Amino acid sequence: MDYEKYIKSVMDFPSKGINFRDITSLLEEGPVYQSAINDLAKFAKSKNAEIVVGPEARGFVIGGPLAYSLGIGFVPVRKPGKLPREVATVSYEKEYGTDTLCIHKDSIKPGQRVIVTDDLLATGGTIEATIKLVKELGGIVVGVVFLIELTELNGSELLKDYDVCSLIKY
Ligand code: 5GP
Repeated sequence: MDYEKYIKSVMDFPSKGINFRDITSLLEEGPVYQSAINDLAKFAKSKNAEIVVGPEARGFVIGGPLAYSLGIGFVPVRKPGKLPREVATVSYEKEYGTDTLCIHKDSIKPGQRVIVTDDLLATGGTIEATIKLVKELGGIVVGVVFLIELTELNGSELLKDYDVCSLIKY
């Protein structure tokens, strides 16, 4: 399916010079959303994934349905102060300052086969931090999936050791 035509590009959002790729217009189209999840699920199935991990917030709208369609679990990665049980944390550099992400320490079993997902790969900082958390818990990252990859930002450089599947590339 030509997913690209369902993505709206919004200039100067959230700040000047950024061409924001809006996935909400794709999510609004039920059969298109379903087809995108099915395509990612095919990839995840081929990797014998046992659990899906995704960062808030847009990672949830991909990771949740992906896990559901595979009949496996979903683990949320969240900003500090949101998860109630004991967490592992990681900090990473963003364009302006640092950000921190957390995961429940007991959410992934050592050796478990993990698919990591987010809506979009830009510089790769968010997904790299998410992968670090998974590995700290002993998970094996068997694949990384996105709706969109912004190729000019070279985020895939950080993911060169992993099997990556992106449905749309800009
Ligand atoms: P990165 O950490 O790879 O630089 O940025 C990716 C993260 O920022 C993802 O969690 C993604 O949701 C968000 N993001 C950055 N740019 C865009 C964009 O153009 N569209 C959308 N939907 N999300 C973006």
